[in-house]
Amino acid sequence: MEYRKLPKGSEQISVLGLGTSSIKASSEKEIEETVALAVEKGINYFDMASSEAKPFAAYGRALSEVRDKVYFQIHFGANYETGTYGWTTNLDTIKRSIDWQLKALQTDYIDFGFIHCIDEESGLREIEKSGVIRYIKELKTQGTVRHIGLSSHTPSLVERVLDMEILDMLMFSINPGYDYRHGEYAIGGVDERMDLYRRCESDGVGISVMKAFSGGQLLNAKTSPFGKSLTEFQCIQYALDKPGVLTVLPGIRNKADLLRILEFCSAVELEKDYSIIGSFAPRDAEGKCVYCNHCQPCPAGLDIGLINKYYDLAKAGDALAKSHYENLEIKADSCVKCGHCNKRCPFHVDQTAKMGEINSYFGN
Ligand code: SF4
Ligand code: SF4
Repeated sequence: MEYRKLPKGSEQISVLGLGTSSIKASSEKEIEETVALAVEKGINYFDMASSEAKPFAAYGRALSEVRDKVYFQIHFGANYETGTYGWTTNLDTIKRSIDWQLKALQTDYIDFGFIHCIDEESGLREIEKSGVIRYIKELKTQGTVRHIGLSSHTPSLVERVLDMEILDMLMFSINPGYDYRHGEYAIGGVDERMDLYRRCESDGVGISVMKAFSGGQLLNAKTSPFGKSLTEFQCIQYALDKPGVLTVLPGIRNKADLLRILEFCSAVELEKDYSIIGSFAPRDAEGKCVYCNHCQPCPAGLDIGLINKYYDLAKAGDALAKSHYENLEIKADSCVKCGHCNKRCPFHVDQTAKMGEINSYFGN
């Protein structure tokens, strides 16, 4: 398992986490065993936006003895009073729900306290008015909440909350469908969404990814908006290559799903290669590097995806990107303009010219 460090913290987060929305189909015993197996295999990040109350107690039993080695992402606004999920902005209901979730999970602290599922300005105004944000901040001051997060599907709304400078983590829906304007949560254009990921990286806000398979649509040629299916591994790698992303949270139904997803960790590059999406990328995604490294190997040894990522982040105002670039052993000035990458790039990036541009930008 690979781990990525939370920029504003010391937590090392597994690149594969778990979503809880689909596990309700299993018995409590199977949920408990599945979660224990996930930890054994190196998963340490658990989103608790469940569709039912049922998994909480099973998670509590499975994780109580390793509590200090795992991270819970808990949602202020998810309510389980009726036994199934309900969305609320009422502060008293939220307080009751948080108390109940902590008790069921057998813990007294929250690693990541999330402002839950806000997609519109009106929702943000509502939780500001009802005191939800103030409440999470108070719990952070008291030490009950370690980090504040937000879950949303709307880039412009996330930008508003980023401006408040309270976030350490964002849960966002990332997949090629949504990024290319297909699907229920395809909110914002290609550039707007990519700019958001870059801003998160630049601001030190980690991203946990929900809906990496677009609710399963992308996995089937009949439901895929592109008319071609992608694999789970391609979708996971696609999300992990986006700036700011720390972890992807597939929703699993049972142990068999978990074991299948875990094979991502030992999959070879070819199984994770998502360059096929270049064949259905919209026009405004053409010629823009998505850092996939499909164009490798470079005979001069350049890490083409990473060099492009640092370049884009530096242009977006990320103060650290320039020094990251300067620390690279092989930089853009080593490009021998062989043209191999241009021939291989499914997004038609003129990388040979781009390396010249990057070299001039960083002043070498
Ligand atoms: S140049 Fe093309 S193939 Fe290479 S990393 Fe960028 S998008 Fe991927
Ligand atoms: S053109 Fe430059 S970056 Fe591209 S493969 Fe050749 S040496 Fe590497």
